[in-house]
Amino acid sequence: MEHIEDFSDERHKAWCIQCGKTLSSVQGASNKDHVPSQCMLDKEAPENLPEVRICRECNTGFSSDEEYFVAFLGSVISGNADPKGQALKRSERILASNRKLQQDIENSLTVQKDPSGNKRVVFIPNMERILRVIVKNARGHVYFEHGQPAFGEPDHATAVPLELLSEDQADAFLTVDHGNAWPEIGSRMMERLAVTAFWGNDPDFVDGWVIVQPGVYRYTVIDDGRFVVRIIMREYLAAQVIWERD
Ligand SMILES: [Zn+2]
Repeated sequence: MEHIEDFSDERHKAWCIQCGKTLSSVQGASNKDHVPSQCMLDKEAPENLPEVRICRECNTGFSSDEEYFVAFLGSVISGNADPKGQALKRSERILASNRKLQQDIENSLTVQKDPSGNKRVVFIPNMERILRVIVKNARGHVYFEHGQPAFGEPDHATAVPLELLSEDQADAFLTVDHGNAWPEIGSRMMERLAVTAFWGNDPDFVDGWVIVQPGVYRYTVIDDGRFVVRIIMREYLAAQVIWERD
């Protein structure tokens, strides 16, 4: 990805954007965290992957949910939870090395019959874990694009396979309108909009979406008085997280 310098307000950099703790109070105990987490992407991860600084507790606190997320999504995409039957390397590795997790995901698989009697494999997600990972990434996207943290629990968080959305719902989700809201001067979103408006040549910014890795991960942050984060993973999972602001 193109490296975009961030000139937004330095004062926002004092906190862990995940839990709100001041980083100076946890001196020496903070880590750089990629946004999105590298485990969500195929190897090799793109250069200049967005990074934010978070406290170490948060950095390690999310890892088991992230493992679950990656293994679950990989299993769904592959239609099974067998490590040997995985289409994605990352889920193959996690399922092969974590027997308990593999069993949990295997147990969440059911075979259902559709109205015409065809068998269909259905996975029941642990939405709490899925959404924890999505909200973590969404916080990172808001911060990285706007230079402002989105503290507290979001007012709205959902994740649903794109194919389960109606045509109208999918259109509404995919159509990104950055409108007339001009993000804070110096923020990355401002730069993306300006570069695209004037030169139309930011290869990572297509139809309002930031392409992290084509076909694997894209996101957008819309500032319409709220922060609306949309993420599409593997062109399969559509997630939306909203923080109302007043
Ligand atoms: Zn933290």
